[in-house]
Amino acid sequence: MLFDIRQETLPREDLEALQLRRLRDLCGRIHANVPFYRKRFEEAGISPASINSLADLRLLPFTEKQDLRDYYPFGLFAVPRDHIVRLHASSGTTGKAVVVGYTARDLDHWAEVMARSMAAAGVNHADVVHVAYGYGLFTGGLGAHYGAERVGATVVPASGGATRRQAHLLRDFGATVLCATPSYALHLWEAARETGVDFATLPLRVGIFGAEPWSEGMRRDIEEKMGITAINIYGLSEIMGPGVASECAEARQGMHLWEDHFLPEIIDPVTGEQLPPGEVGELVLTTLTKEGIPLLRYRTRDLTSLDYTPCRCGRTHVRIGRIQGRSDDMLIIRGVNVFPQQIEGILMESEGLSPNYQIIVDRVDNLDTLEVHVEMDENLFADEIRKLQMLEKRLQKNIKEFLGVTARVRLAEPRSIERSEGKARRIVDKRPRD
Ligand code: ADP
Ligand code: ZN
Repeated sequence: MLFDIRQETLPREDLEALQLRRLRDLCGRIHANVPFYRKRFEEAGISPASINSLADLRLLPFTEKQDLRDYYPFGLFAVPRDHIVRLHASSGTTGKAVVVGYTARDLDHWAEVMARSMAAAGVNHADVVHVAYGYGLFTGGLGAHYGAERVGATVVPASGGATRRQAHLLRDFGATVLCATPSYALHLWEAARETGVDFATLPLRVGIFGAEPWSEGMRRDIEEKMGITAINIYGLSEIMGPGVASECAEARQGMHLWEDHFLPEIIDPVTGEQLPPGEVGELVLTTLTKEGIPLLRYRTRDLTSLDYTPCRCGRTHVRIGRIQGRSDDMLIIRGVNVFPQQIEGILMESEGLSPNYQIIVDRVDNLDTLEVHVEMDENLFADEIRKLQMLEKRLQKNIKEFLGVTARVRLAEPRSIERSEGKARRIVDKRPRD
């Protein structure tokens, strides 16, 4: 279902014309209003007038997370503070938080792209949407909230925490849609079982999950356990929050990135050169309409690729692939690069393992060590010790074979790994910082 047929099916030519117009307008605005950008333009020897086609984008300077930190809190805002009606901050998964500000028009656009994302997932005014993303400085809760309201659905602003109670609310209010991080959704499912709420008897049919990396294997596990369709949604506070890109229920092959508001590129993270569609690299986003804190060529550090081929749902907006990793999460184990999702992918191929896992990295006698703890389900847990040991061996062998690193795998008892109310903590890095 389309929320805004005209915008979502805009022919590519028209979409690109609109992007160019907005890009030029953006350059003019930030050049005039943000000293940081004016200086960057000067250093690069360009002016807003140098931008005559979308291909000229590559002439423009990048913006990095560090820039937002250096100008903390409001240094990159492009409007006076009294035009800002809301502040959010990133969850600080990877260091000091960054602050973003929204004008009333920004909030309107955010609700709009989030509503498109909800509609693409199959949500409509008849739905009851239970939002279990955290409400607060984190963009997840309020982002999903206003999107669901814009669609006209009934919103339950549950936020994170009080998990058993949430299971009761799911049942009592008859939620048909659940918005959460995928790891919290699973936690909620477990808590529901413990408190006697059977998902099979609930009207729940769609889950809109994002804000953290997850694998296709985890999607299958969630769909099987909860009896729902799980949709992948992407976003980041710096650009807006959730709803930058989202899957359509029709195809579920990549997330449509709302290109009338966000202009994407994929670059080689080392050289900074643009890569062609289909190639995996770092996603770089330019905000085309944002007023509060517009960003030029923002390096997301998320690794994915772009797919411009037509989607069967009829939307013309480009699709980004499942986020394959976040460069901050990349572990270097004795010189080999490893992403948690790669390990998750290998674990999820085996029967009886839950997507609750943790990767523990340490340094012993100057050598990096890698341990993977993964929870078994009850059935596997009841199996013979010998079989479990064989499974551990097999997982170790697969990790070595596919990722080229030696890992020690430990099967853990059901429910022994710490649960999070927001983003799961997958990596425990005990190596001394040098
Ligand atoms: P933080 O950087 O503190 O985690 P945010 O809460 O803004 O701040 O999180 C945005 C990040 O979350 C993205 O840059 C990306 O790494 C991750 N993310 C969001 N949605 C997804 C998704 N669907 N799949 C994988 N990663 C995601
Ligand atoms: Zn589609």
